[in-house]
Amino acid sequence: MIVILKETGDAKKISDFLDELKNQGFETHVSKGSAKTIVGIIGDVTKLDTDRIVANGIVEEVKRVSEPFKRAGRKFKPDDTLINVKGVKIGEGSFTVIAGPCSVESEEQMEFVARSVKQSGAALLRGGAFKPRTSPYAFQGLQKEGIRLLVNAGKKAGLPVVTELTSLVHLDLFGDVDVIQVGARNMQNFEMLKELGHIDKPILLKRGMSATLEEFLMSAEYILSGGNDNVILCERGIRTVETMTRNTLDISAVPLVKELSHLPIVIDPSHAAGRTDLVLPLAKAALAAGADGLMIEVHNDPAHALCDGKQSLTPDQFLSVCQKLKSRVAFEEKVWSLK
Ligand code: PEP
Ligand code: MN
Repeated sequence: MIVILKETGDAKKISDFLDELKNQGFETHVSKGSAKTIVGIIGDVTKLDTDRIVANGIVEEVKRVSEPFKRAGRKFKPDDTLINVKGVKIGEGSFTVIAGPCSVESEEQMEFVARSVKQSGAALLRGGAFKPRTSPYAFQGLQKEGIRLLVNAGKKAGLPVVTELTSLVHLDLFGDVDVIQVGARNMQNFEMLKELGHIDKPILLKRGMSATLEEFLMSAEYILSGGNDNVILCERGIRTVETMTRNTLDISAVPLVKELSHLPIVIDPSHAAGRTDLVLPLAKAALAAGADGLMIEVHNDPAHALCDGKQSLTPDQFLSVCQKLKSRVAFEEKVWSLK
């Protein structure tokens, strides 16, 4: 349930109102937006008497919210969420490109890729240190050493870093990581999501390959309900009947998420397509649909990559993609977050 407050409501009356709800066992979420202050009430609101709430002099309107996601929902918080990662903006009119290899492989690789993607306009550096592979015999990532190489390369290039957490057991190793990625395979690892709700770092939450948008937003809700408001959603394609692409990019996820939620959403055209030739057209589609940015895999030598070489762009190809996107970003009235 949401309660829209009158603009004239004084602070004492608002805090008495919140205390009263708390005493009745409800949680409240206050959003002071540009236009209105909205109080979201969370709990079993079926027994709440809306007439009594409306009778309170500070209340303008009461609405029941049918969506199961509350804190992630736009009805609870009409204004877009802006995530700030060491000065890099994600959301609210910025177009932010995250780039780097699927896996961290060596110091030379990471430093070269970091330098090149920064020059082309990437604002964050990615690189997997713990890799969730289908086969237990495939390269599993450099793990602790991989995080060290990623963080160092990011520092040298001046880029904040994003890397995936595959198990809470490793969380202590992520102290210097700027954004923690929850991969598609862990989107519904609820114990992990709950724990990430208690930490003070932005979370890049990727959509599960068979997850509905409601399930996706409910996973974000887990993190938000723990108190961590900094969630970036990432659409990376879903499983369909199509076999020519690795997954099918659900482009309608972008406008739907924008309608339903205030959280920023980026598109990962690399995992969606699984092939390099579709990265640019899918990136253009993402921008046109209103996405807040992209996550693109870039490798110094894709033919010899230890993971996902088939979908990884060379640094030159990445530069060309960025050049082709930049004028369109301005056309969409967005600002490229790293020029
Ligand atoms: C990745 O980004 O490296 C990754 C494994 O992606 P996803 O979880 O979307 O498959
Ligand atoms: Mn990958």
